[in-house]
Amino acid sequence: MPENDFLQRFIIESSGSRGEIVRLTDSYRSVSRHVDYPIEIKKLLGEVMCTATLLTATLKFEGKLSIQLQGQGLVSLLLVQSTHEQKLRATAKWQGEVSGKNFKELIGKAQLAITIEPEQGKRYQGIVPLEGENFAECIELYFLQSEQLPTQIWLAVNQQSCAGFLLQKLPGNEKESSPENWEHITILARTITDQELLEESFETILYRLFHAETVKVFEGKPVVYECTCSKQRFESGMMSLGQSQISEMIKEGKTVDLKCEFCGAHYLLEISDLQRVSVAIAKTSDG
Ligand SMILES: [Zn+2]
Repeated sequence: MPENDFLQRFIIESSGSRGEIVRLTDSYRSVSRHVDYPIEIKKLLGEVMCTATLLTATLKFEGKLSIQLQGQGLVSLLLVQSTHEQKLRATAKWQGEVSGKNFKELIGKAQLAITIEPEQGKRYQGIVPLEGENFAECIELYFLQSEQLPTQIWLAVNQQSCAGFLLQKLPGNEKESSPENWEHITILARTITDQELLEESFETILYRLFHAETVKVFEGKPVVYECTCSKQRFESGMMSLGQSQISEMIKEGKTVDLKCEFCGAHYLLEISDLQRVSVAIAKTSDG
């Protein structure tokens, strides 16, 4: 049975490298539940969702990882967030005709930002220009430029599902993590096909690629599409508007209708809610 909405980590002990496979189906479908994304944008969202899941699993932290593409192409913004518990959410903004457009045409001149926000500790952000023929190439270049461990990534996507495969050299100078072994293992991995990634069971894929290696497989993790929005979060967000603007809104006496870009949920802020925001702003400026 092929695994869906599932992430599998493994270590190739004989070559000093580690890897992960992910495949999303329900969670991939969920992204277009409230926005009717053109297929080109949905596929790009799928690739970034798989990547965010793969990257979250390589980090040892509790918190949130965001991948953001921001540029001047047809897609002005694409944002995917994943938590250490493999909860995903995603959104994209575009304008104009995207039908039949390739990655470079969609994105244009853009930046790739990867932000890591641990629940405890410092926020980290890496930003690089988006250079690459496809998103997988962009991520590999990001790893090269940020001087992290050699990493290769494969992404496959169709209408129903998206899948990703990541291979990363383990740190250390042992014989197993030699450049020759890394080369060897990436040559094997490069034979993976999109169809295998999207359709085969993870066991079959790993056996097909690495049956002559010693592979240790860890317990898999389910991945879900889940938004973390709430009325309270939107109220906190309103604080950044500042006291005068909030007072103005209270004076106007209109209910504010806010929509979550990730899940489509609506939150209505009544006057009493805005007054609460106003009190909160006053408290912070007092302190
Ligand atoms: Zn939401």
